[in-house]
This record gives sequence, structure tokens and C-alpha cells, in this order.
Amino acid sequence: MTTLPRLTFLGHSTVLIEMGGRRILTDPVLFDRVIVLRRVGRRLDKHLVTGIDAVLISHLHLDHLHLPSIRMLGDDVLLVVPAGSADWFRARGFGSVVELAPAARVMIGPVAVTATPALHSGFHPPFGPRAMAIGFILELDATRVYFAGDTDMFAAMADFGGEGLDVALLPVWGWGPRLGPGHMNPRRAARALGLLRPRYAVPIHWGTLWPFGLGRVVPHRLSQPPLEFARFARRYAPGTQVLMVPPGNPVAFDPGEPGAPLPARFRQPPGLRARARRALRRRSSPSGPPAAGSP
Ligand SMILES: [Zn+2]
Repeated sequence: MTTLPRLTFLGHSTVLIEMGGRRILTDPVLFDRVIVLRRVGRRLDKHLVTGIDAVLISHLHLDHLHLPSIRMLGDDVLLVVPAGSADWFRARGFGSVVELAPAARVMIGPVAVTATPALHSGFHPPFGPRAMAIGFILELDATRVYFAGDTDMFAAMADFGGEGLDVALLPVWGWGPRLGPGHMNPRRAARALGLLRPRYAVPIHWGTLWPFGLGRVVPHRLSQPPLEFARFARRYAPGTQVLMVPPGNPVAFDPGEPGAPLPARFRQPPGLRARARRALRRRSSPSGPPAAGSP
């Protein structure tokens, strides 16, 4: 039996992973706005991200790399970034940067962090260098956690589970009503889960960032992806237990049977359910308020 990490889903692709006495943050987006995207729901409690030891950056798209968020974490935070981007970070004043290509590894205290491939485009000019997209496997003794970053499903995922993954943090949607190439919808993410075969899966990359003013058009895309993912996971990965939490909340590991139905409290995040209801009411009401400012 392995020791499970402490995980807090902070929203979109940002997860606080606490392992071996280290506090490691993935793709931090900690502010309410990123270009045309805004955070829906509760503002992030910044106390959750104090004392961070290291930041893992999966790729340089703007919803995963947000420089003000990284700067907020302090000067001595170690940045682990995709191969081809370390100089770009150093040129922006970050002193402690390690770049990894797939299969390369760095130690964060006792935690071994190994880069994995990802099926996703790099960063496009004119905003920065074209670096690869990667994911990460974190290992401490026999405990293994996979953070996928942004990726489509690919066959080599079957190898990641070779020695047994405890947790997969998997993207199940994005930041708008549609997905571009290099992403997984809930069904495809569940098929990826069938390759990875972890004990637990936490759906991420949903319900957090949304284009300003668009929430009213497709409110179900804010709340439904993890629910759909959990349904498909029962079909494609029946040995994995899906742990769903709304953005800003810790993951509660349930000692229930693998593949058991989701506990009722996880079936529909309360904040999102209320927002979806309000959006639907406005939509069906002929005298409802105008669309602007109601994502
Ligand atoms: Zn991306």
C-alpha cells in the first residue's frame, strides 16, 4: 500500500501536490483574469499557495504559463519547464530553472519528477519560444502521480501505468465551449484512463477559466465535463476511482471500492450547479438581464 499525496485542485490546470514534505504547484494560474479569460466562481484563496518549493510548467500556452502567478510565489521557487524554454525564463529574471525533455528527471527533495511526452503543440510566436509540451510523473518511494498537462490521448500512456500509478491528474475539457486539437473531451480522457490504469483519477482543466461573457451561452460546459468523464470512466477504466472536486478544493480520497459510484457530494459541484441554474433561468426568462458580464 502506498502513501497517497495531499492534492488540492486550485482550478484549470493548477494543482497543489504535497509529497515528501514538499509543496509542488502545477501550471499556476492564480489570478482572476488571463487575457480574455476570466475565472468563474470563487476567487482563489492565495493562502493556499504559500511556501511553494517548486513549480512544474507543462507548456507555454497562456492558460498554463502565467508569469504574474509564478512571480507571486517568490524568488527561490524552482521552475521545472519544458526543454527549449529555460533561457526564455532566465531572461525574465527567474534564477532557478531546470528544463526537462521527456524521460529526463529532476529531484525536488525526495520527490523524483520525470517528464513524459505530451501530444500537444508548443508555444507559438510572437509571444515566446516554441518549446515542447510535456507532462510529469512524480515519484516518492512507491507512490506515483501523473500530471498530464495538456495532451491528447496517445498509445505510450499505457507504459506510464507500467509500475502502477496511484493518481492521474487528467484534463477533461478546456476554457471555452469547444476544444481545439491536442485536447481530450471527457470520453477521450476516460479512454486515456483505460491506458493509464491508475487507482484514482482527478479530472482537471474544467470549470475555471472562461471567455468573458460566454458562460451564459453554454453553461453546461462549465459543470458537465467531469461528470461525463466519471460516467465514461466507469466503462473504460472500471478499476479506477474518479475523485471529482470543484476548483479551489482539496481532493478527498475515498476508501471505497475501486470503480464504485461517485459519492453524492461529488456528483455536482454546488457552486457550479447554482450558476448553471441561474444561467438557465435567465435564458428562459424573456425579461432576463443582458448577456454581458454573465459568464
Ligand atoms: Zn495548451
